[in-house]
Amino acid sequence: MHVWDALSSESKIDFSAGENGRKNTSAIAYMTENPNLTRALLARLESLEPISSFENAKVTSIDLGPPQDSPGTLNLSSYPHVTTSSSTSPLVARLLIGADGINSPVRTFAHIPTRGWDYDRHGVVATVRLASRGGSHSQIEEAPKVQDNVTAYQRFLPSGPIALLALPGDYASLVWSTTPEQAARLKGLDPADFAAMVNAAFRLSVVDVDYMSKMPSGQVDELAWRLQATDVPREDETKYPRIIESVQEGSVASFPLRMRQADQYVGERVALVGDAAHTIHPLAGQGLNMGLADVASLVRAIEYSVSHGGDIGVQGNLEAYESEMWMKNNRMLGVVDKLHKLYGVSWWPVVGLRSLGLGTVDKFNGLKGWMMSQAGG
Ligand SMILES: Cc1cc2nc3c(=O)[nH]c(=O)nc-3n(C[C@H](O)[C@H](O)[C@H](O)COP(=O)(O)OP(=O)(O)OC[C@H]3O[C@@H](n4cnc5c(N)ncnc54)[C@H](O)[C@@H]3O)c2cc1C
Repeated sequence: MHVWDALSSESKIDFSAGENGRKNTSAIAYMTENPNLTRALLARLESLEPISSFENAKVTSIDLGPPQDSPGTLNLSSYPHVTTSSSTSPLVARLLIGADGINSPVRTFAHIPTRGWDYDRHGVVATVRLASRGGSHSQIEEAPKVQDNVTAYQRFLPSGPIALLALPGDYASLVWSTTPEQAARLKGLDPADFAAMVNAAFRLSVVDVDYMSKMPSGQVDELAWRLQATDVPREDETKYPRIIESVQEGSVASFPLRMRQADQYVGERVALVGDAAHTIHPLAGQGLNMGLADVASLVRAIEYSVSHGGDIGVQGNLEAYESEMWMKNNRMLGVVDKLHKLYGVSWWPVVGLRSLGLGTVDKFNGLKGWMMSQAGG
């Protein structure tokens, strides 16, 4: 992975396989597309009879059960009753797990407040196709080797980082964090101009990128001219990603970026995981990883409760999950938030200090290995 600062050409950090302290690994991390994860999880669920799943169903309301009507009947008044668009009667949950994203209806039901702020930034995402090194696919008949596309690139621009993460073959996933206005302009561009804008954002100076991003169209010709007029190498194996040749149709989208942390991860008969519990800026690619770690920890708490004859919905039996994950996630939220703020500053003394810091860290493989192991969970 190659990371650098747009305001200081010398400021960069590289993470390579072998520095992460794990022997015999040829990779520091893997990119997995969400449909692959979802497909694998659904296949696993189907193998675990008798689990019922409801497709295309929306949770329309969550309420507590009615008060106990007579002594001796089951008292379900403290149990969540979940009504879905496809069910006629509510589903009664001994434990309701909210894995329902930043606006979590489960969190609202449990009256759990969140803290945090909006970044006034949007993440523009797209799936892009990379040209082979030395020319476009239309010019070269032989397809490039798959191994050529294994490095992730991230450049910190003052408005936010732009990152390109390798996907199989010649594809890559783009995440560009930028102002809402620029995100709207990018989404409005014709695909060729959008690709030229991304190529510019990885290669040209901040002034050039700002100028081009305000053009209503014509980025393709502008980039060609600016690349000739500046001394930026068109292709550099170590410094820049391969040229983006095209953008997959329908893949460009944008999402508002926010930081949130729920005050509690558990309540009576409720547990929150993933973005329902915390939402993080995507600059370190940690959002889903944190959610997976939550799930692993919650499973441990439930297993312990079951194996000791406990009720899995009782808050006290879920607290081991909260004590393990809340502080850990809070630290990660804090670090990523500070990085976002640090790289948003253009004042030269701060740029100089952060360059010095990044350059120093880049020299210590042990420290970089520790950082990679933290990011990899
Ligand atoms: C631009 C951007 C780039 C990112 N890049 C990365 C990355 O590279 N790596 C990474 O690890 N993370 C990344 N993330 C973060 C990652 O996308 C999230 O952390 C992750 O998707 C959270 O998963 P989740 O299941 O907790 O929530 P979500 O993905 O939000 O899923 C919640 C689900 O609940 C469903 N739901 C909500 N309400 C209801 C209801 N009433 N009834 C039925 N269903 C409901 C929703 O439809 C949704 O399917 C990125 C985020 C952004 C914005």
